[in-house]
Amino acid sequence: MNFDNLIDPFDRDHLIHPYTSILNPLPAFKVKEAKGCTITLSDGTKLIDGTSSWWCALHGYNVKELNDALCEQLQSMAHVMFGGLTHDPAIELGKMILKYVPHELTRIFYADSGSVAVEAALKMAVQYQFAKGNLRKSEIATISGGYHGDTWNAMSVCDPIAGMHKIFGSALPVRFFAPVPQCRFDDPWDENDFLPMKKLIESKKDLLAAVIVEPIVQGASGMRFYHPVYLKRLNELCKKYDILLIFDEIATGFGRTGKLFALEYADVVPDLMCIGKGLTGGYMTLSAVLASDKIAAAISNNPPYAFMHGPTFMANPLACAVGIASFKLLLNSPWQARVKHIETKLKELLIPLKAKSLVKDVRVLGAIGVVQTKTVVKMREIMQRFIELNVWIRPMGDLIYLMPPFIISDTELEKLCSAIAAVTENKNLYV
Ligand SMILES: *Cc1c(COP(=O)(O)O)cnc(C)c1O
Repeated sequence: MNFDNLIDPFDRDHLIHPYTSILNPLPAFKVKEAKGCTITLSDGTKLIDGTSSWWCALHGYNVKELNDALCEQLQSMAHVMFGGLTHDPAIELGKMILKYVPHELTRIFYADSGSVAVEAALKMAVQYQFAKGNLRKSEIATISGGYHGDTWNAMSVCDPIAGMHKIFGSALPVRFFAPVPQCRFDDPWDENDFLPMKKLIESKKDLLAAVIVEPIVQGASGMRFYHPVYLKRLNELCKKYDILLIFDEIATGFGRTGKLFALEYADVVPDLMCIGKGLTGGYMTLSAVLASDKIAAAISNNPPYAFMHGPTFMANPLACAVGIASFKLLLNSPWQARVKHIETKLKELLIPLKAKSLVKDVRVLGAIGVVQTKTVVKMREIMQRFIELNVWIRPMGDLIYLMPPFIISDTELEKLCSAIAAVTENKNLYV
């Protein structure tokens, strides 16, 4: 197969792609169109999508209902500022969101990306503590192995080893990290698993503004599934010391784990919650922070009597309109049955790969399937192999994972899984 035809020379020489060399980048294959679960490259090669484009495209691509919502919204306005103005798309989307999250969360801050939502949530937590006169409570704790985005403060709470701490060193704010939870989602709960976090919180309780975690699924930095009781214990302890609990549901929201939001597994209500990614079904960039009345009151009753953040494209009407359409489409679909079915298929087709000598671990939860290999993949080689196999799967380090659109068919899912089976046979694809 001639991969050079799929590379655009201007793109290669001038456009910076994520997490790759600027001068000698990994190939970026040119896409002509995407529809359903198929991504078509410029030479006509068709790929079955196993990534939902970084976990956003819940309904696949080029979805009539979403296209229509965008076109219709365009007729009235693409954008107006949110300072001093408002509009139906923001209001309607807000009503829908609040209906499906715990009722204690009553306030919504729209932002333009997941990372910015995390920044805003951390700022709210610090503003809350200062407003309450807890001037020393400005630090953040989290668990290792997390991922919360690429902006400054989001980066500072990402995993300290796998994340970007080494590169940015002392330029990053120092955070407190508990070890990665060891008790897996399906294991019997082991009280010892929470002890390191308990120790950390108790020793830093006077300094901590908030603890931020991805509930149940640690995504981009490890694809691990941990035990719901960990979150219950964390919530109890945070409440005890007036430390805010922030759930980053940017990856887990909108059904991916089998629940609409992963917090439902633990039955815990956080003080702040971030959503993003699947919020617009992969169409537009939009995120939100949801906050409780307690946060709203503390911030608003004390100087500067306002939350100090306001993105230019806050609550963009196009993004909100497509968000409403996407949420409706999800709720009107048999998404629970679909995710359950994907889970069953992924278990059936991926778990047997555990027996392979190159494979270290296989785990499945909801519409997430992860094959962890013993060494990291050779990215260039494995991506070319996947394209030859007509699938779009993009590993991270030693993790080859699937997060397909919920509408994927059995045949498509089988092709994705057999492509993974094929690459776990070939040791030349690993470092
Ligand atoms: C992707 C992700 C983010 C960052 O979102 P962006 O839209 O890429 O800025 C934050 N937290 C989690 C859990 C994510 O998966």
